[in-house]
Amino acid sequence: MHFLPIFPRHKRPVFIAGPCSAETEEQVLATAHALAGKGVDLFRAGIWKPRTRPGAFEGVGSPGLAWLKRVKKETGLNVCTEVANAQHVQECLKSGVDVFWIGARTTVNPFFMQEIADALQGSDVPILVKNPVNPDYKLWVGAIERLYKAGLRRIAAVHRGFSTYGDSKYRNVPRWQMPIDLAQEFPDLELICDISHICGRRDILAETAQKALDLNFDGLMVEVHPSPDAAWSDAAQQITPERFGDMTAALLRRSTTSNDPDFLEQIENYRCRIDDLDEEIIYLIAQRMQLVREIGSVKKEKNVAILQPERWRALAEACRRRAEKNELSREFTNLFLEAIHQEGINQQEQVMREEAIAVGNSGR
Ligand code: PEP
Ligand code: MN
Repeated sequence: MHFLPIFPRHKRPVFIAGPCSAETEEQVLATAHALAGKGVDLFRAGIWKPRTRPGAFEGVGSPGLAWLKRVKKETGLNVCTEVANAQHVQECLKSGVDVFWIGARTTVNPFFMQEIADALQGSDVPILVKNPVNPDYKLWVGAIERLYKAGLRRIAAVHRGFSTYGDSKYRNVPRWQMPIDLAQEFPDLELICDISHICGRRDILAETAQKALDLNFDGLMVEVHPSPDAAWSDAAQQITPERFGDMTAALLRRSTTSNDPDFLEQIENYRCRIDDLDEEIIYLIAQRMQLVREIGSVKKEKNVAILQPERWRALAEACRRRAEKNELSREFTNLFLEAIHQEGINQQEQVMREEAIAVGNSGR
């Protein structure tokens, strides 16, 4: 798939900002006027709100479209809103909404995605596709593909994090590797980071915004409200237009690369050393797995189970302590240990199977 840009190529990062929900005409216009002079590229406001639990504010619906028209007329800002079914698409097309976005609870559902794609057939409106609520890369790509097959080319992806259960610093955990993989597979697909839905709280918005820019996102989506604490949805994560202006002004815009000879020489030097270490790491892990396979043979011979929880717990604890002393994050250490353990189990299972096949063959 090859995509056309939604935002002017020369302007990076781009900013999409506005309230979570359009609540009243006054609130929408006050936000838009306050944002107009603050480098915003696209004004957002949800009209139909997909709320997790019933009884919450579910959006003002179609009357909100007229408010967005006023925003465009009075401020010159392009406007976008969420569409979740064919009827939303038809109303937004009729009303001249500039850009549509697909929410996380819609991307996840191929039936809705197909209905939306069919309703968009023949139009060339730009579409932002949020990631699905769960970290399913193929569902995200699949949603984009359905739009692409309907003839749409101005498509961008929005990373808004993934649902989680239990304690987390984030409302939706970012799992940054997934949008990075998406950008690698589709280099001309613009990638926006919705920091508001990732963070779910104001105090970590700025650091998350900087992180997104450092990971080469093309822009940010930020929820902005004139009185955030009084917002009818997502109050904890919304910020005032003033705070939005301060935050974006403080962002460091780093260039993606540099031709400075000193920079290139230093980087080359470090990269050579990293390549050597990576080679050694792979060699050491392969050696470790060879020993694991030999243990597998002994276990097979003595009819002992592969999984030895006591031994693994002790080993993992010792590794965690060593990793912590060396300033590796617990998150990384746990992922690393899990991968090593899983590969060890797989290798021993293979040894047991191979030997079983060998025994079976010799018996025939
Ligand atoms: C929103 O942008 O207000 C929204 C509902 O987002 P998401 O689909 O990412 O939850
Ligand atoms: Mn919201």
